[in-house]
Amino acid sequence: MSNKVYIDGSMGEGGGQVLRSSLALSLITGKSLEMKNIRAGRKKPGLLRQHLTCIKAAKEICEATTSGDSLRSMELTLAPDKVKAGDYHFSVGSAGSAILVLQTILPPLILAEGKSTIVLEGGTHNPMAPPFHFLEKCFIPLLNKMGAKVSMNLESWGFYPAGGGRFTVEIEPTTKLRPLEVLDRGELLAKELNVISANIPAEIIQKEVEILKDKLNWDKINEVSKVNSPGPGNIIMTELKFKNSTELISEIGSKGTRAQIVANKLIRKVNKFLTQEAPVGEYLADQLLLPFALAEAGSFWCTTISSHTHTNIEVIKKFLDVHIETKEYKKGALVTIN
Ligand code: ATP
Repeated sequence: MSNKVYIDGSMGEGGGQVLRSSLALSLITGKSLEMKNIRAGRKKPGLLRQHLTCIKAAKEICEATTSGDSLRSMELTLAPDKVKAGDYHFSVGSAGSAILVLQTILPPLILAEGKSTIVLEGGTHNPMAPPFHFLEKCFIPLLNKMGAKVSMNLESWGFYPAGGGRFTVEIEPTTKLRPLEVLDRGELLAKELNVISANIPAEIIQKEVEILKDKLNWDKINEVSKVNSPGPGNIIMTELKFKNSTELISEIGSKGTRAQIVANKLIRKVNKFLTQEAPVGEYLADQLLLPFALAEAGSFWCTTISSHTHTNIEVIKKFLDVHIETKEYKKGALVTIN
């Protein structure tokens, strides 16, 4: 494989994931990255503040040289140097997802020489991004089973549009990720529902809770927490804890969306997941691909193969000489890496 990788950012859904996976893989493999058509599939194409923070973070942890890293740019080159473990602090400077910044630099740092501590600021519970708790409950436990030692601590919540969230991540690396098989959920051990709000009128949240209690009809009392955040925010998170894996299904409330709609959307997603059998949900599937490909072996059952998953496979294959096979069945899809 060549030492320079060309990525067409319009591939698949043409979104930010193509950029983040490419950055992570460029740092890990030491291969230079040349990208065109960045986020060409999005309404506002090119690099936005959140994506620029991902590039800044990638650049800083390996002292890379870059060009094209400016607002709305659709082209980028990055020549990485060796990834350095250490103490880092990155701030998105808007409500853009700080979790997606972590998604970019976590894979290189879990394979670096030495421990790292990262402080991240920005959005922690954004639409169209993994919420902090998704990483903490679903993704990190599996990554830790593969040999890394990562822990996360939420200090303040950041919702769109005010942002202002902050969390820390401690990383003890591994020299090589171990292959993992996630093929069976095991029995359902616990179902937990958390309704989180900041600066939202109590009656709106009450309405949400009433619908959830009524329609989910779970034994466990819903936990309702008011949290501190600079702006208003509301997220409902359902943690489904199985013996071998955890799924966190969430729905974010936003101004102008009725409480009934937010609650009903979540209920539909939760009921659907509970009737399925695969341990890995749609979002976790696209996020697991990179660590699984780095382990060079392993397999998982997921509920469905999203366009993000297909695209991530294409990006990974540009950097790594790895075979990734997907087989779709009525009950879900099997992803095998070898
Ligand atoms: P763009 O900025 O181009 O719209 P993006 O940067 O928001 O794109 P996407 O390419 O859409 O990024 O990728 C979003 C990532 O967030 C994916 O890895 C997806 O799995 C994850 N994600 C989205 N929603 C959820 C959710 N509710 N729970 C967990 N993960 C999620």
